[in-house]
Amino acid sequence: MQTRRQMERQEEQMLASYAAKSSRSHGRFYQEPEHPYRTAFQRDHDRIIHSRAFRRLEYKTQVFVIHEGDYYRTRLTHSLEVSQIARTLARVLKLNADLVEVIALAHDLGHGPFGHSGEDALRDLMEGYGGFDHNLQALRIVDLLEERYPSFPGLNLTWEVRDGLNKRRVELPGSPGGSDGNLSLEAQVVDMADEIAYTHHDLDDGITSGLIEEEALQGIPLWREIAKEVARSRLRLDRELRKYWMIRTLIDRTVTDLLHAATERLKKHRIRLPSDAQAISERMIQFSSTMLRQRASLKVFLNDVLYRHHKVVRMADKARRFLTALFEAYLRQPEQLPDTARTRLKSEDPHRVICDYIAGMTDRYAMEEYRKLFYPEAGI
Ligand code: MG
Repeated sequence: MQTRRQMERQEEQMLASYAAKSSRSHGRFYQEPEHPYRTAFQRDHDRIIHSRAFRRLEYKTQVFVIHEGDYYRTRLTHSLEVSQIARTLARVLKLNADLVEVIALAHDLGHGPFGHSGEDALRDLMEGYGGFDHNLQALRIVDLLEERYPSFPGLNLTWEVRDGLNKRRVELPGSPGGSDGNLSLEAQVVDMADEIAYTHHDLDDGITSGLIEEEALQGIPLWREIAKEVARSRLRLDRELRKYWMIRTLIDRTVTDLLHAATERLKKHRIRLPSDAQAISERMIQFSSTMLRQRASLKVFLNDVLYRHHKVVRMADKARRFLTALFEAYLRQPEQLPDTARTRLKSEDPHRVICDYIAGMTDRYAMEEYRKLFYPEAGI
């Protein structure tokens, strides 16, 4: 039977000197005894998987609203794709794949219903009351809002996971020495995996839905280049198989570029310890300048064609209107809130309590709640 100590020793032997090691973690805000056969980061991973916020990702919108089709990405499948790409990156760069996986699975926990339009609505509603940001909300969830333990609020995760989720670099309670430095290498890996995952799966979902026409993609040099390679194979492919081939090749090429560019940067800046990477402002985990340029045209395309497609904009605006209506209805009459939220009203600003409540909702729960509040014939 393998013990935690043995796994910790393996980390020391197998990982790079600049990788985070679970045995050298700065620990948890509330002290807890270590687990006999799980490292600190493996334990955090399990805490995320068992959290309510993680389960709710299944019914939260990425770009396409849940009821538009079962095969589109949701926040849950997006998070799994991010985690999968991030683990590959971490393994090749000899970074801590366990830590990377926790940060990846938790990175979108703070998103409210209806994707970015939901976030925009909450940000507007919270103006003057402390604001709203999904990155900070993820930290609120793991530090405060999840209720699973009798002796502390939240999930009491290790410092390295909380610091990795702290993309805004705000001061966090329990900091061993300030969060003013850069993200850790493991957190940088997740950030890039997030970007790689969403551009490619949005492209995939965009083509599947018909909102993106393949001919229009010919304007993107990176796409054109790979399309030529696929054509050279002389295989007779239907639309679907060609799409998967294209996207698979794009991801592979992007990930490979990132691995080479990151390896070079780590060497050039003589990164030896995790703290070396956090002490400099330049990101070590970054694409080559060529790939950055090539990706810029892809991102502009996605923005113009998909994220600003009239169907996406219509749904986004609808979501914004009805989340606003929900928020205002609760604020007018906070007694409508469920027990747990009502208890918090005694000591906290109702805006924050309502914001946390709405941000925690899945798309379908928010729609159901809207029906209950505004349609006389709906149940209570
Ligand atoms: Mg994401």
